[in-house]
Amino acid sequence: MKSYRKVFIFHTNTRRAFINITQQVEACLKESGIKEGLLLCNSMHITSSVFINDDETGLHKDFETFLEKLAPEKPYDQYYHNGYEDNADAHLKRTIMGREVVVAITNGRLDFGPWEQIFYGEFDGKRDKRVLVKIIGE
Ligand code: ZN
Repeated sequence: MKSYRKVFIFHTNTRRAFINITQQVEACLKESGIKEGLLLCNSMHITSSVFINDDETGLHKDFETFLEKLAPEKPYDQYYHNGYEDNADAHLKRTIMGREVVVAITNGRLDFGPWEQIFYGEFDGKRDKRVLVKIIGE
């Protein structure tokens, strides 16, 4: 069995952002040489997500509205966690959007359904954050 590992660093200029990372993940798969197996991609931070959905700007605005309704950033003092920090909303948003994705690898390709794309979701940005790609297979 072959194994491959890579870590990407993202640094957004805004507190929140969605970044399509599909091409970077596909480049990892190509570099790995693995043709059949599984690919894991996860955020290594507890205030950001990796998730799969449609690359459509209207939908991304809908995600922002949906997440702000469930866990609004402000007022900061509405959260117990914000005694020393201001990012309780980011922890909650990350929990909703998930930590990681697993994608099947078939014939050397990510075995996606129609419209599936991989995104990095940042909820407490303006600093370096890491994303792990791990691939196992043959
Ligand atoms: Zn925190």
